[in-house]
Amino acid sequence: MPSLTELGDGVYAWIQPGGGSGVSNAGVVVDGDGLTVIDTLMVRSQWEPFAAAVAELELPVKRVLLTHAHIDHVGGTQAFRNAMVLGSPATSELLDQPMPVDGYKTFFAAFADEFDDLAEIGTRPVSHIVDDAAQLTARIELLPASGHTAGDVMALVADCDVLFAGDLCFFGVTPLAFQGDPKTWADVLEVVADLADVIVPGHGPVGTADDVRDLQAYLRHCVEGSIPPGPWDAWTERAERDPINIEKAAMLRAGDDGMPPSMLKAIGLLPSD
Ligand SMILES: [Zn+2]
Repeated sequence: MPSLTELGDGVYAWIQPGGGSGVSNAGVVVDGDGLTVIDTLMVRSQWEPFAAAVAELELPVKRVLLTHAHIDHVGGTQAFRNAMVLGSPATSELLDQPMPVDGYKTFFAAFADEFDDLAEIGTRPVSHIVDDAAQLTARIELLPASGHTAGDVMALVADCDVLFAGDLCFFGVTPLAFQGDPKTWADVLEVVADLADVIVPGHGPVGTADDVRDLQAYLRHCVEGSIPPGPWDAWTERAERDPINIEKAAMLRAGDDGMPPSMLKAIGLLPSD
């Protein structure tokens, strides 16, 4: 069972071990007026214990920041009913759509039996759009970007040198760019590597600039179309995700911003080979 790990004064990470498909991280930052929760995990078995640990801090949850529009980060918004919900335009759009329950059950097969419950609970809409860099609180700076999706948002807590990178960072786990742009993503990581000493990724353990550089190099190889041996050989989910990332980069190079067929197969919308 994960627990809140204090990375700096009043700055916590909730790291779900493994970091694979549907197994993401979250965070909490204490400000003078209460808490900001960063991402909300996916299904009830994940966000109930997280919300219980947040409640033990005995401070009001004022804000929920959603780093991007993927269900493994936005599924638990109902656990924080009184907070404002901040997200990019793309995240707002996702949360205004009906939940694609069948696709989620196929893609996140290990959690398939929890999605009917999640569909019933529903998610909260974004109440405050983030489309520009902004000082959210005295401690938290919001940094919009793109690369993993069209609307990624990072949260920087400069006073203790911690960056919550969302899925712009995967450490020890192969990244997934089915809705992203591997080239843009690698370019953004040039900036990310210099933002903070301590980086909380969307998936995998807390890391540093070295982990960001490895991820950047992997994404550049995806753009080149083949991946040589490297530190990524120790990452999980290579077999599933390499083809999707390489295919997506090639499609974008050809001017096609669609969903890679390899990803459509993974979510059951095309028959698998
Ligand atoms: Zn994601």
